[in-house]
Amino acid sequence: MQKHTPMVKYHPDARFLTDYAAGCLPASQALCVATHLHYCPLCRLKIGELTELGAELFMQQQPVKVEKAALEKLLARIQASPQSPISPVQAEPSVSILPKAVNKLTSGNLERLNWRRIGSNFRVSRLNVGDKQRETSLFCIKAGGHVPHHQHKGDEITVILKGSFSDHEDKYEVGDFIVRTNGETHKPVASQDQDCLCLSTLDAPIVLSNWLLRFGLYLFNLGTPSHQTAA
Ligand SMILES: [Zn+2]
Repeated sequence: MQKHTPMVKYHPDARFLTDYAAGCLPASQALCVATHLHYCPLCRLKIGELTELGAELFMQQQPVKVEKAALEKLLARIQASPQSPISPVQAEPSVSILPKAVNKLTSGNLERLNWRRIGSNFRVSRLNVGDKQRETSLFCIKAGGHVPHHQHKGDEITVILKGSFSDHEDKYEVGDFIVRTNGETHKPVASQDQDCLCLSTLDAPIVLSNWLLRFGLYLFNLGTPSHQTAA
């Protein structure tokens, strides 16, 4: 049977891609870009080109004389530094399995995560990716269900891992990289045929319109992340 790469419509912009290629993105945003790359051959190609360009620019630099002691000190620091939890190496595209970066964080078993239910159709599990400035989670919307109506107070990136959802603007499918900014209000609704699983990271809490759900989210925020940073 022929494998089909999902049709990805929404991509990270040039800033995300160049910062990712340069290794400058915060861990949670790098995780979202790496997850998108798993599904998107176009952006994998762009990352390859950016990496080549970076190497070319590096080669054009005028050589500078470095003292032997300073070079040895630098090499020792590189060897001693811990590896980044998010590797910029891209996974092979596949629609049947989750991206490697997500599998690593969840130990490949989503049901073992600590899921918190918010409303009847929505559940969230926080992930610890080692980025204290942002909250990173997996969330799941039941088939035909919706995320409670909410407003963003900061930037949010969402990448769809399974299923699809729609809001007042469009329908979003597996691999789509969706950015919401401060002040935007929306109410995503999952498609009827299957549950929708997403990865998201946000740099400020969302505000729910319904006070009962707001209380639920408050309790959720008091909880501890379900998984520790992957090695
Ligand atoms: Zn892309």
